[in-house]
Amino acid sequence: MRVLIAGAGLAGLSCAKYLVDAGHTPIVLERENVLGGKVAAWQDDDGDWYETGLHVFFGAYPNMLTLLEELGIEDRLQWKEHTMIFNRPEKPGTYSRFDFPNLPAPLNGIIAILRNNDMLTWWEKIRFGIGLIPAIVRGQNYVEAMDRYSWSEWMERQNMPKRVEQEVFIAMSKALNFINPNEISATILLTALNRFLQEKYGSQMAFLDGSPTERLCQPIVDYITERGGEVRFNSPLKEILLNDDNTVAGFLIRGLNGAEDEVLTADAYVSAMPVDPLKLLLPQPWKEMPFFQKLEGLEGVPVINLHLWFDRKLTDIDHLLFSRSSLLSVYADMSNTCRGYENRDRSMLELVLAPAKDWIGKSDEAIIEATMKELENLFPQHFTGDNRAQLLKYHVVKTPRSVYKATPGRQACRPSQQTPISNFYLAGDYTMQQYLASMEGAVLSGKLTANAITEQDSTINSPDESEKTPVSVAK
Ligand SMILES: Cc1cc2nc3c(=O)[nH]c(=O)nc-3n(C[C@H](O)[C@H](O)[C@H](O)COP(=O)(O)OP(=O)(O)OC[C@H]3O[C@@H](n4cnc5c(N)ncnc54)[C@H](O)[C@@H]3O)c2cc1C
Repeated sequence: MRVLIAGAGLAGLSCAKYLVDAGHTPIVLERENVLGGKVAAWQDDDGDWYETGLHVFFGAYPNMLTLLEELGIEDRLQWKEHTMIFNRPEKPGTYSRFDFPNLPAPLNGIIAILRNNDMLTWWEKIRFGIGLIPAIVRGQNYVEAMDRYSWSEWMERQNMPKRVEQEVFIAMSKALNFINPNEISATILLTALNRFLQEKYGSQMAFLDGSPTERLCQPIVDYITERGGEVRFNSPLKEILLNDDNTVAGFLIRGLNGAEDEVLTADAYVSAMPVDPLKLLLPQPWKEMPFFQKLEGLEGVPVINLHLWFDRKLTDIDHLLFSRSSLLSVYADMSNTCRGYENRDRSMLELVLAPAKDWIGKSDEAIIEATMKELENLFPQHFTGDNRAQLLKYHVVKTPRSVYKATPGRQACRPSQQTPISNFYLAGDYTMQQYLASMEGAVLSGKLTANAITEQDSTINSPDESEKTPVSVAK
């Protein structure tokens, strides 16, 4: 089958990869001139990379890890010590760690929590543990049902101390969805906690060894093109053209720089665009269908990714850090964590600014000024006194609509990959899959879409070709 896919983010690329594996011919159409969507990265005039987002991979990403193995690039992940490191705002420049011992889950997680005495008292840990019992005992059905509460509401219902939220979960909720615990759905944090506590290496983190565009997306493109597929840049989907029965007749691609628009046709069509542009492109007859109406409940959340290059080394920590600052979320010194960005003499901090709603409209200068103030708390030894670290250059990347904002009630709005339109499918981290809006979720969604297309093709054509069996999905 010839399949047109709009969007060359991880979902679109994963979908194309698994379609070529099943013997189909995907053509990926990307609006921009760069691969990766929310993992896209660019090189500046000095050859330094800057990215849409600071990205970490987790042990609990089975579909991503399988994909990397299938591409033969699993050694590009640089696994870090199994720990979570939080800044201590009450003691600027110091850290508190949750160290996971080399023991089976959930014992390693329980010991990591019990051993940390800087952030929570014994009483708070016990109250938190008791509050988690229903999620552990009743499993995923309970976790899904909790989508009606925010994390703050859920903690209150479980009689958990407010301080646990302030000490640990503001940082976690900003890291997971760029919003605070009073906004984020309880389902999101419970899903992450379940993964982290139930899998031995679930919470262990890795950094890619270079830019995601070059080191992750390009090998997927090479794999696709070597097997007869295609990836085209500067090819924005402008309109979804319909047949009389409301199935897709073609994709109208906007011609750029004075070129004519072009109609492309295929046997099946996939939107691997984020939900916000998809909503704008829905044909009128589809807008009346409940399946597509649900999408109105999903909207991307703003976030800002910062890169600051300094004249010296600020830290030797080779890991992700939870800043616990109200302005910032997680950050890392990429000159330590990422082989491709390595510098033994100078730091490059990559920091996520979230929640970004009040900052997205501000100038880069104002954002950097506020960030530099925060660095006085994170690295007081380098940003106070006479010999202060000098900022050499910076890049600010704003994403006004990033992953869907996971407030209570959103689970019911997430669509399946298969739609009521027989030749139209959805892929993307926002579509329904058991992972959150993440790289893992995007890769899994693409795989599920490829499977749905392959299955439908099989039922129509009842093939005897064994390569058209759906690929297995890691849970
Ligand atoms: C700051 C930040 C930090 C993050 N950190 C992490 C992390 O640490 N770990 C993690 O797992 N995840 C993280 N994520 C989330 C992760 O990046 C996303 O979940 C994932 O990359 C989404 O992939 P996707 O393919 O679903 O969507 P996208 O990456 O958004 O891809 C959609 C593609 O569609 C294209 N497109 C849009 N409109 C059109 C059109 N009209 N025609 C053709 N193409 C179009 C876009 O240009 C884009 O390339 C982070 C995201 C951000 C922004």
